[in-house]
Formats: sequence, C-alpha cells, structure tokens
Amino acid sequence: MPLRKDLVDHMHEGWVIDTHEHLQQRPDGFPDNLFALWQQSYVKADFASAGASAALGEAARSPDAAAWRRLRPYVRRVSNTAYYRSLLVACHDLYGLEGEDITDDTWQALNEAIQRRNAKPGWGEEVFRRGKIRKVLLDTFWDQIAEELPLGGDFLVRVMRINSFVMGVRRGRVDHGGHSPYSLQEQLGVTVSSLGDYLDLFEAALEWYLTRGAVALKSALAYDRELYFEDVRREDAERLFAADDDSPQTLQALGDFMMHHILGRAQELELPVQVHTGYLAGGGHLVGRDPKRLTNLLEKYRGVQFDLFHGGYPYAGELAFLGKHYANVYVDLCWLPLISPTAARRYLHEWIEQVPINKILWGGDCTRPDAVYGAVRYGQEVVATVLAEKVREGYMPEDLAFELATRIFHDNAAELFLGEVHLQ
Ligand SMILES: [Zn+2]
Repeated sequence: MPLRKDLVDHMHEGWVIDTHEHLQQRPDGFPDNLFALWQQSYVKADFASAGASAALGEAARSPDAAAWRRLRPYVRRVSNTAYYRSLLVACHDLYGLEGEDITDDTWQALNEAIQRRNAKPGWGEEVFRRGKIRKVLLDTFWDQIAEELPLGGDFLVRVMRINSFVMGVRRGRVDHGGHSPYSLQEQLGVTVSSLGDYLDLFEAALEWYLTRGAVALKSALAYDRELYFEDVRREDAERLFAADDDSPQTLQALGDFMMHHILGRAQELELPVQVHTGYLAGGGHLVGRDPKRLTNLLEKYRGVQFDLFHGGYPYAGELAFLGKHYANVYVDLCWLPLISPTAARRYLHEWIEQVPINKILWGGDCTRPDAVYGAVRYGQEVVATVLAEKVREGYMPEDLAFELATRIFHDNAAELFLGEVHLQ
C-alpha cells in the first residue's frame, strides 16, 4: 500500500499543532519508569478495569523484578487495548523497545531506558522535536492558574479552563476537580460579595490568561453536569446569587447564567471555545453529554468558533451534523484514536464526506511528552488509513488526501487558534 505509506511519511515530515494536552510539571527527582508511564497514562484505567490498580501504583513506586512479576498477568490482559498499544509506539521509537510487545526479556532494558532518558534535562523537548510537534494547546486542569509550565521553549500555548467559574458560583461549591474561583480572590485582587464582583473575578482570571498568550477557553463541564445551558437573565441571576438557596435548580441556573456570560465574552474577544463532549475518562454516565445538547449555544453565539472534542464519541453522527450545519463548529478527533482507532477511522470516514476540510482537527489528550508522541503517531496511522481508503474507493483524488493530512495535523489548528493561514 504505497499511498498509505506515502501519507504516513508526509505526516511524519510535517509539523504538528496539537489541540489538546494536559502536560504536567513533575517534581524534581520524580521516580520515572515503565510503570509510572502506565500510571500516568490512560492505560491506568485499563489496569484498574482488569483489577490491578493497586499493583500498578506499587510497581511505579518500586519498579523491581518482583513488581514486574506481580503485574505481568495484568499487562497481558490490557495489552489488547488502544490505550496500551499507543504507548508501545513510544516505547519502540523513543526507548528502543525491540519486538512486538514488552516481555520478561525486554521489560528491564525498557524500564532503564525510560528512567535514564527522563532523568536527562530537555528530554521532553527532544521528544517533541522528534514528533515534529510545533505547538500544543495546554489545559492545566490541576491548577486554575498555573504559573509554572513543564517544557522549555515555546511549545505550549495556554487555554483557560472555565469549569470552576460555572460550577463554583456559590461560595464553597467546587467543580469536579475540587476548584473554586473564590480561592483566586487574593491572587487576582478581587473580593466577591455580589454577582458583579464574581464577574469581575472571572474577568481578572481571563486577563491573567490573555496576558500569557491564551488562545482559547476550554469547557470540561461534561464531567460536572449535562450540557444544556438555559439562557438565564442577569436580574434573575442577581436574585439567585443573593438568595440563601442551595437547591440544585438554583445552582444549575447560576451555572447556566455563567456559561452564557462566558460565551458572550468569548464572542466579543473572538476567542475559540473547546468543549468536551461524549465519553468520560474514568467512567460516569453519558446522559446529557451528547453534543447536540449544545445546540442553543452554537446558535446564539455564532461568532464563537466551537472546537467540539473527542468526536462526541459515541455520538459521531450528531457531531458530523453539527460540523456540517454550523459554520462555527469544528470537529476534533482529540483522544478518540486512543480510545478506539476503529471508531476514529469510522468517524473520520463520515466527517470527510460531510464536514468542510478546514474544520477537522486532531489532539492527543495526554499528560507526558512520550505519551503525546505515541498519540501523534497513533493518530497519524488512523488518518493515513482513512485517506488512503478514500482515494482507493475513488472518493477523492490523491492531492486532496495529502492536503487533508496537512490540515488535520497542522494547518486547521494554526488557522483557528494562531491566526495563521497556510492554505487557501
Ligand atoms: Zn483532556
């Protein structure tokens, strides 16, 4: 299949702009190893699902032969999942793993390579250069205002997560990550005693991000609540804010009001908004997480470019409809190839038939540079397969397939988030 190979080579040669990662600063002297790589990646959830949550944690703390022996049956049990297999790509390319999988004979050398290379200053940057990753949009979910970022150079571009501002309107309430905007009062120099003050606090946080080059807002609210946001009038929100009422309806209405307020500001500032839709990491039910629940927002804020994440998995058809119907909706494969490359291929086939080619994006959604590298390569395989199939079926010409590959991994994100135009 020379065309597929040519497409893969083309993507490996081109730069990548990655719409979404959670790269974290690790404390100095952090004991990095093979098991820590798993522990800090999505495959952690598969180990938990296979019953090896505690064993993995222990192995990450003391990565010796006994730990490997204890964990080995579980490694076999998760070795079929895409979470696991995407990391194998990194193990092969970055840490010299030989053979198709990690075995009794190879785990130790791999473990040592991971320890050694990660102890080397600048390894994360080196990994990004090898993956030709030019920019990564970073969601620092662990800190509402993260002064320190992990990598040197200018790889990282901030996005501002809005969850706490929607879920924490009432003092003492927090989002699913445990964050309250009230904890930012002192740092941002705003004291909140009215809804107006609360909006000022949001404004100060927004300013903090914009002065540090943030290019988008990010909603992971699907982890906190369902995705329909009623349009609540300011005077009603003022009344609810002042009332001594913590009923679910009141808290929901205050959050609804904030979501509309935030999108109104995004529209004024021409800031794109990234939105998690569908599948939730770590489980949780999906009721109300389908992308079509956002329809009233997509229609009211036509000036906001919405980057809808994760293919809306498992609601790809809905997302394709939104991407086709609304000029302000982008469809993002982000994370999907790691959940299921088959689903990602199926979705991309449909999207290519429905959504204009400037509105299809890719992101990784990982916490470590090596895992990001695996996600890039894994995503590129998915895209190459689909594009080669589309050409082979006679659906489109080769030159369009190559253009799409460049757009999905670089040009579309460059245009949407960085204001660069590479292709007409
Ligand atoms: Zn994410």
